[in-house]
Amino acid sequence: MYKATLIPGDGIGPEVIKAATTVIEAAGVKISWDEKPIGQSAMAKHNNPLPEDTISSIKTNRIALKGPSTTEVGKGFRSANVSLRQRLNLYANIRPIKTIEGANTKYKDIDLIIFRENTEDLYMGVEHMVGKDAAESIKIITRDASERIASMAFNYALKENRKKVTCGHKANIMKLSDGLFLSSVKNIASKYPDIEYEEVIMESLFMKMVMNPEKFDVIVLPNLYGDLLAEMCAGLVGGLGLVPGVNIGVEAAVFEPTHGTAPDIAGQGIANPTAAILCGVMLLEHIGEKEAADRIYNSVRHVIKEGKYVTRDLGGSYSTMDMTKAVIDNL
Ligand code: ATP
Repeated sequence: MYKATLIPGDGIGPEVIKAATTVIEAAGVKISWDEKPIGQSAMAKHNNPLPEDTISSIKTNRIALKGPSTTEVGKGFRSANVSLRQRLNLYANIRPIKTIEGANTKYKDIDLIIFRENTEDLYMGVEHMVGKDAAESIKIITRDASERIASMAFNYALKENRKKVTCGHKANIMKLSDGLFLSSVKNIASKYPDIEYEEVIMESLFMKMVMNPEKFDVIVLPNLYGDLLAEMCAGLVGGLGLVPGVNIGVEAAVFEPTHGTAPDIAGQGIANPTAAILCGVMLLEHIGEKEAADRIYNSVRHVIKEGKYVTRDLGGSYSTMDMTKAVIDNL
């Protein structure tokens, strides 16, 4: 029996996370889940968006499955997600973006993976007003954090027999901060002579990605650009409901879908559970349950390709739980 922290989160979080745990159980892997709140649900219960109890549960179990949590725009409490990443030093955000046949997209054969630095850049929240009518945000980039994410990307490329690593940047404009990120990644790249390495300016990377996404393989990015590009890439494979992810560091791994809380469809039981179920697949791979992970992954692909028991965003009319049941029936 494995132990893991379960954070259902806000909005559609509890609905899709329930789908993921149900599928894992049906695949025969026994996990004892320690359920903890975060975000809005934690505010309501503990008046704290990131209770210490939630942090210590993840520290103990070292793995967590997490739904999205609410972050208010331009006001309110600080993002619990950002705080969680900093508190647990989850320095890498990894998102595999892979075509699933049958999903609503005109692109084929996309198989790329984004390694986004997760602890610094403009997301450190170092910002202040200068008088009433000006605001400053400070972008922080360090060599250590940049080399750390680059090493993770290159190690992954080596292990998984990937051919190319692309580094995205704006060092033409932010010569010091992005310049440091770029030179750090280049330094790591020099240690992997067998892996092709390229550097692409961000706006060009967005354009090339829209035109020929199948040409990309492993991508390494600072925090802000990684956030933006990953969500656009989700669109290329058929939408946010399909893309899983993990926030990972030395102490812990928190598996979490790319999508947000989707308040427009929350509570209706119609959210696509794929991203959350695929987070479960990544979690199972992480703990060494490869066989169960493969079975679930193949079943999800089968259900989407067949296109019968799928949710609205995939062109069907079935509920989250109907689609989940179809995945279980095909395991
Ligand atoms: P948040 O502020 O939490 O990021 P949001 O609505 O701005 O919420 P998302 O939650 O990522 O951002 O949703 C963007 C759009 O994608 C919404 O229209 C939402 O309904 C849709 N969406 C997101 N996740 C799913 C899903 N799992 N299934 C179906 N549609 C989804």
